[in-house]
Amino acid sequence: MKADLLVVGGGPAGASLAYLASKAGFRVVVVERKHTPENPTICGEYLPDWDVLKSTLSSYRGMLPFVRDRFYSRELILNRTQTITVEFSGERTTLEFKGAVIDRAKAVSSLLEEAESSGAKVMLSTWYHGSKVCRDKVISKIGSSTLESDYLAAADGYSSLAAKSAGLSSQLPPEDVALVTLQRAKCNHSESDVYMEFSEIAPGGYAFIIPRGGLCNIGVGYPKSHRKKITIAHREFLKKVEAAPTHSRVYAKLLPVGGLVKKPAASRVLLVGDAVGAVMPTNGGGIPLAALTAHLAAEALKSESPEEKYTRLLKPLSQTLKAGLAARKIGEKVVFNRTLARASLKLAPKSAVLAVLSMDTRTRALKLMRVVSTLFL
Ligand SMILES: Cc1cc2nc3c(=O)[nH]c(=O)nc-3n(C[C@H](O)[C@H](O)[C@H](O)COP(=O)(O)OP(=O)(O)OC[C@H]3O[C@@H](n4cnc5c(N)ncnc54)[C@H](O)[C@@H]3O)c2cc1C
Repeated sequence: MKADLLVVGGGPAGASLAYLASKAGFRVVVVERKHTPENPTICGEYLPDWDVLKSTLSSYRGMLPFVRDRFYSRELILNRTQTITVEFSGERTTLEFKGAVIDRAKAVSSLLEEAESSGAKVMLSTWYHGSKVCRDKVISKIGSSTLESDYLAAADGYSSLAAKSAGLSSQLPPEDVALVTLQRAKCNHSESDVYMEFSEIAPGGYAFIIPRGGLCNIGVGYPKSHRKKITIAHREFLKKVEAAPTHSRVYAKLLPVGGLVKKPAASRVLLVGDAVGAVMPTNGGGIPLAALTAHLAAEALKSESPEEKYTRLLKPLSQTLKAGLAARKIGEKVVFNRTLARASLKLAPKSAVLAVLSMDTRTRALKLMRVVSTLFL
């Protein structure tokens, strides 16, 4: 089998890249181990308001229409939220912060279907086993076949086997990798509010309720280095908020929250989505960034030197995520210290909390956090 591009993984990043690259005329093969795309979807499916995202990613104006059209379209939105309620150290505050909850499986499936219509070969129930990168091609083992491609895109999440087998690493220090659970449940929570709780239930992380079209996406997430068993934390939270799961299985997944990897590309290989670390370190949001990095990779593939171009295009995103990492490190010091938590709820202007939630790096609050974190943490 031969292709111009092998995409490993059919999640938001892989499906976006397959769609864009096949539309641009590349012969694309996508391999996805799941039998049906996004079954299961292990994600809160929450997106910040479009205007907020636009401002966070203002360096990428030209790429944003794709993210908007494919992930924010009206038919994908299950419900809109108006506020975020944050609880830390027993204190609660509700902030005006608009967002939307989407049907992510629908978004990803339609990208893959349209990629197929543009000539991509989408291979479901197919495991990727590894690659050998040669000077002029990549030879990969997929299912029981061998595939020769000009390029390899690692869109297989954290920690990417495709990246590793091509000699790149998507590994981060354990404190920068969160283990996050997800379960869909019936829960007595407002349809228009997202709830985030910073407490001993999820040490060093948070527990969340995201209303989803009559049900809720519920979970807990904290650094994988923590000793507390994640399923225990998850059950404690379900009990506390009196949520009734609609199915018994608790899903859990690793999420990189330490910013972009040092080397996002190497000869004939590009990392996208979670594999490149494109996740907001403050809140774990990664869907829009998966789509954005896929778009950057698709643009880079059209150039003479895709590896160099992709690395260059990622620079503004890298800065944004560094600011997010700084905010996360400072935030952790505050929210898990009862005195600091209470004082900051009283003294910190809501605009500072909103700046962190929206990750608007142009705000004074985020600039200041970056400086403080560089100097003291
Ligand atoms: C519990 C949880 C809640 C979250 N909530 C939100 C949220 O509310 N909003 C938000 O924006 N982000 C959220 N995120 C983050 C978001 O889900 C990720 O950033 C996003 O899924 C990244 O997309 P991706 O395509 O890079 O990776 P993934 O979605 O991980 O896709 C990778 C794909 O590769 C496939 N794959 C992996 N290995 C192989 C292999 N060897 N062979 C074949 N296929 C393979 C997998 O099956 C998978 O389909 C959440 C994450 C978690 C874990």
